[in-house]
Amino acid sequence: MPLYEYELCDGDCKACGGKFTLRRPLSAQELTKCPSCRKPVRKVLSVFNSPKKLSFSDAKKAGFKVYKKIGKGEYEKQ
Ligand SMILES: [Zn+2]
Repeated sequence: MPLYEYELCDGDCKACGGKFTLRRPLSAQELTKCPSCRKPVRKVLSVFNSPKKLSFSDAKKAGFKVYKKIGKGEYEKQ
């Protein structure tokens, strides 16, 4: 189950501290309110889900042009 991080859109909350993480199934509905204080929350992009290092193949998939260094100051498009 992915881990999601949420923070309050506005104000502060003693129950959740203004920021909390929840494990939720992918099929679960988007959480819009803090379960403890009922204030509106927004999802924070979790650091756990972001790739640590972008590999070449990932970069290609993402649409980046990948160049191979073939010499001093020269690059070959792959
Ligand atoms: Zn709260």
